[in-house]
Amino acid sequence: MFEKVLIANRGEIALRIIAACRDLGVKTVAVYSTADRDSLHVTHADEAICIGGAESSRSYLNIPAIISAAEIADADAIHPGYGFLAEDARFAEICRDCGIRFIGPNPDSIRLMGDKALARKAASDAGIPVLPGSPEPLHASSQARAVADEIGFPVILKASMGGGGRGMRIVRDPHDLESAFGQARSEAGAAFSNTDIYLEKYVERPRHIEFQVLGDEHGNVISLGERECSIQRRHQKLLEEAPANAFDADTREHIGQILADALQAIGYSNAGTVEFLMDDERKLYFIELNARIQVEHPVTEAVTGIDLVRSQLLLAAGEPLGSVVPDAVEIRGHAIECRVNAEDPETFLPSAGKIERFAAPGGPGIRVDSAAYSGWTVQPHYDSLVAKVTAHAGTRGAAIRRMRRALSMCVLEGVKTSIPLHQRILEDPRFVAGAYDTRFIEELEL
Ligand code: ADP
Repeated sequence: MFEKVLIANRGEIALRIIAACRDLGVKTVAVYSTADRDSLHVTHADEAICIGGAESSRSYLNIPAIISAAEIADADAIHPGYGFLAEDARFAEICRDCGIRFIGPNPDSIRLMGDKALARKAASDAGIPVLPGSPEPLHASSQARAVADEIGFPVILKASMGGGGRGMRIVRDPHDLESAFGQARSEAGAAFSNTDIYLEKYVERPRHIEFQVLGDEHGNVISLGERECSIQRRHQKLLEEAPANAFDADTREHIGQILADALQAIGYSNAGTVEFLMDDERKLYFIELNARIQVEHPVTEAVTGIDLVRSQLLLAAGEPLGSVVPDAVEIRGHAIECRVNAEDPETFLPSAGKIERFAAPGGPGIRVDSAAYSGWTVQPHYDSLVAKVTAHAGTRGAAIRRMRRALSMCVLEGVKTSIPLHQRILEDPRFVAGAYDTRFIEELEL
């Protein structure tokens, strides 16, 4: 096992990684920006090194500063968390070249999955069902038109290097395709410094279903079942659950096996999430693979009893999968996670500022992942997630009641949060019935 792990991240995920390291007896090094001096990841790590200014480009995305910190602290591995450098193949390569273990998949896997058009092709070649669409990135609107005419409208244009729900454009009318293509390209260029666009069939009212996978360095891959993340606003997840609603064990098994075989074939290792859309005929179609730990990993941890971050550390250290996870993974009960964001409930804009009072809920079946405390200031420079509340119980109904109880007992004053929105979701009859899709929030807000 590693002796010392540097955590190239902040907030709740940095604390989550510190917890996994402590449990394994591994020392930790926090890195922080000048805006994060008073953050809990700095307090709780064994060592902490300031790596630059508040803006992410000067700190959490500053590769030379992070590598220098790892060398100064003599860390033997780096955990990137999610966001920031987690899916930067070049960073993973630099770590490797500097003799520092990058805790995640190998650079080739990260690079392949980072280009969504290439990932789609690789998935399709490996026998994973994908939506009808362009086999390769499109360079002219005439190419887009030819594919769209063949598969039929509506279609969705997506940036190959896109992420975070950005860089997507739905086209319903063939007349709009040309202008939408131009806009999508320039937006992609501005946001991701790459103008590659691909196209796929737009699914009306899909459900977002994703599979958690783990792979070792010896060619073994396992699926740990699925999560449902259809509660989204502007293609961003707000609430996730495991297992997915009305999802049968046979499909779980069947898709899990296809994924294990496909990822084994490409030599995928460590944690990953394979995202699918499910249409109204309950058919699943691959949309992308996220080559990192996800925000919503706690719901899978709750129902499988497997510590995913600990697993990442063990797998990166070369442990075989068989010694990291049990032979038969069982899904027990139901778990729901609410992402509590510091945001204005009317405008959804981040509500940065000082948290005057914070008391996390607790009690049976409740887990809170948060780096917030009373007196801590939510920084405008980073994302607005302040706490993840996860409820686990024997049944979905009991998990919903637990989550309502936990949110009603969460004291978070000084900033506006998404808790009232979560409370509305949890009371909504469609949500309670488990009969919802990705349009749920849009319709709730009407
Ligand atoms: P990102 O990488 O930006 O998160 P994804 O490709 O994972 O983008 O898609 C995010 C969300 O956008 C999906 O969960 C879904 O709600 C919506 N979406 C993406 N592709 C389609 C599609 N082909 N049809 C309908 N909705 C889609």
